Amino acid sequence: MVVAITRPTRVIVSKSAVKHNLDATRDASHAKFMWLAVKSNAYGFGIIPMSQAAVEAGVDGLAVAILDEALAIRQAGITVQILVLGITPPGYAKLAAEYDVILTVADQNWLTQAHDELAGVENPLQINIAVDTGMNRIGFTDREQLADALDYARNQVGIFDDLGIMTHFAESDSPKVDYFHKQVDRWHELTDGLELPRMVHLANSAAALYHADEIPTDVIRAGTIAYGIEPSQGELRDASYVEPVLTLETELNFVKQCHEGDGVSYGHTYYTSEGEWIGTIPLGYGDGLSRKIQGFDVIIEGERCPLIGKPAMDQMMVALPHAFPVGTKVTVIGKNHGQENTLEDVGAHVGVTPWEVSIHLQERLTRVLGK
Ligand SMILES: *Cc1c(COP(=O)(O)O)cnc(C)c1O
Repeated sequence: MVVAITRPTRVIVSKSAVKHNLDATRDASHAKFMWLAVKSNAYGFGIIPMSQAAVEAGVDGLAVAILDEALAIRQAGITVQILVLGITPPGYAKLAAEYDVILTVADQNWLTQAHDELAGVENPLQINIAVDTGMNRIGFTDREQLADALDYARNQVGIFDDLGIMTHFAESDSPKVDYFHKQVDRWHELTDGLELPRMVHLANSAAALYHADEIPTDVIRAGTIAYGIEPSQGELRDASYVEPVLTLETELNFVKQCHEGDGVSYGHTYYTSEGEWIGTIPLGYGDGLSRKIQGFDVIIEGERCPLIGKPAMDQMMVALPHAFPVGTKVTVIGKNHGQENTLEDVGAHVGVTPWEVSIHLQERLTRVLGK
């Protein structure tokens, strides 16, 4: 992995926007403990800067998909609780315990294997039990097996600390609530009357924002909302309460005036008019942008300028309304002189969800924390 710091292209994560969005989520859900999902390089925003912004904003714990992500956060000196949401091979149970990382348990077999790995461990492994109420991804689906596993874990004092229990909703961001309610009913069937671990968490962002009166939300797992993306895309709640978090900006690094009929970029899909000004930016599909971004308007000194020609791996061209000096800021996502592009705008242009736009942003893009 090489991070490009010698070109003027960067992703900026706004700390105040992260805080604003997390505060809004806490207000809506009355959560006392908030996990923030920073898996997959924090939805592409950058796992370390995003984790730092989240901890500063008062997040109580960080949730990742894979143990390696948890270890990277520990290596960056972040000390809040870290939960691995996916299944970790039991052979790594001891490593997780040593780094004070909570692992998710989806079946008894895992517990038994991890138990053997944990012999002689200094501190017990903190575990989080996954209950499958209808996502059909991971977790216990049978009440008796769940009860047995809870008993088993509780009795292995010094080996396991049964910290949490969770489920995950397949559909909580939609006006169609039937399946959501089915899952809530199933949760009650599977867990009511059992002695549960101290941390019970069901809600992702959408469930925390739209269903806080129907499920326990003392503990929630926020994701999308913290990244400045309204989970229902404005359908269930006017999106104006959300502040965009991500800026993707660069600079013009080459500017020239063209003649009538000059073909631009691979395959010459664009021909200039006489005297047309064309700028070049050091950003391309090799940075994770879709090549369908062709035609999208970037913002230069408040003026909207289309990306023209096929995007190249490392560079793209912009049609300019007039000459701009080399070094002029180009905003692909974010605010520029009163104009704004959002992840939603790019997503709509290229035909994917806003978080798929961010998740593809490559490690090559340097990420910095901004105000
Ligand atoms: C990613 C994830 C979340 C966060 O989901 P959002 O929809 O982004 O809020 C919560 N819980 C689990 C299990 C996840 O995998």
